[in-house]
Amino acid sequence: MKTSTFAGFCLALGATIFSACSASTEVKTEIAKWQYDKQGAVSITYDDGTVNQFRVAVPIMNRLGLPGTFFINTGTLPGSEWTGRFIGRPIEEIIEETKTIPTDTVNFYERASAARYVPVKGANDYFTNAGIEIDAGRKAEACAIIEDFYKKVVNGQLPPVLPRKGNAKADPDELTWDKVRQHTAEGHEFASHMVTHPYMSALDEANIHYELDKSREELLKQVGIRATISAECPYGTGDGRAVGYAQKEYPALRNGMGLDYLYEIHRGVGESPVKPECEYVQWQRGILTATSLDEMKEWTDVTAGQQNLWLVLVIHGIDGIGWEAMTSADMDAYFTHIAADNRLWVATFGDVTRYIKERMHATVTSQRKGDGTVSVSLDHSLDKALFDLPLTLKTDVDPQWNTVDVAQGGKTTTVSVEREGNRAWVTYQALPGGGEVVLTGK
Ligand SMILES: [Zn+2]
Repeated sequence: MKTSTFAGFCLALGATIFSACSASTEVKTEIAKWQYDKQGAVSITYDDGTVNQFRVAVPIMNRLGLPGTFFINTGTLPGSEWTGRFIGRPIEEIIEETKTIPTDTVNFYERASAARYVPVKGANDYFTNAGIEIDAGRKAEACAIIEDFYKKVVNGQLPPVLPRKGNAKADPDELTWDKVRQHTAEGHEFASHMVTHPYMSALDEANIHYELDKSREELLKQVGIRATISAECPYGTGDGRAVGYAQKEYPALRNGMGLDYLYEIHRGVGESPVKPECEYVQWQRGILTATSLDEMKEWTDVTAGQQNLWLVLVIHGIDGIGWEAMTSADMDAYFTHIAADNRLWVATFGDVTRYIKERMHATVTSQRKGDGTVSVSLDHSLDKALFDLPLTLKTDVDPQWNTVDVAQGGKTTTVSVEREGNRAWVTYQALPGGGEVVLTGK
């Protein structure tokens, strides 16, 4: 056994206080702000599951070793158990009622939820426009849109939706659950964008819950529990009612998590990301057709220079397919720039949320033992099935050590000692609740 400085000091003091010295002594361990002790985090997220996200973006990301998060509408994939449907009374009954009772703020939500499933052309547009009005706080306008819709339905002014012709050839690159599982194995995250992409602010409770619950159940069944942490309610809604329900079901909600230690700046708001007083700052940036490569590079450079920043990129279309499509050339150049920046931790939306929440709910203690090893115990108070990401620890060690074996749960890795002045420490990964971590120096 190597004699550490501390043990040598104990021997010099003699036997009278030996028992006090042989008891373990606290040493300092801190949890790094970001995994691998990086200076900032970046999550690359995609909405709507359009085909070029898998045909174009995934190959670029796989080549560069970057993981992405894909918010998908679970009900649109072939073979899904839960697809779009109205939860409530028979729709004919609701239509009948609109003939005599005007739409008001009480019956609005049921009528709006049912409107999407009335088989006439443009039904979803009426519903979505009503959702925009609710999001903007204009309830009377939203009621007027739904009132107008049902008037037209009753008067036969909207053409019926014809049954789809069979044998329509699907795009071979269209997303399937097999591809979802394959991309998950490659390191990407799949997450809920609800069952059918509704404007949640205009739905009643029963239909909000159907969209939240069934997209979650489908992801659990098809992919597994790690795919059930993240969600985005469509259209980036900030509606308190819908977002409140969604937060209860999804710990990583891109619309907003409502955490006092996470300051969230949402896309479309020209706020500065420099908020040094907050533990973490999430900074969302939507990549639009008009966004330049230089502007995108500036976002990641700012992120790497600010210790508390988490940049969340929001991407929809690529190469002409999907909303506000960016070009694959810009995407390739930008992702290459990100991958080359060693200051950044690039991780899925779910993993960055895991890291932040685990760290904020963690307890860590570390002691030097009589045999010279350091024993570290790390735990957090969250659900271990969902919050299973290792945290990055930095523990002070004997300055005479050069390398340290880090052992936890039967696995050992060797790390080099880092130094600054008289201080020496090691940086390593440890799983909260994964058993004692033992550091043995050489
Ligand atoms: Zn969307």
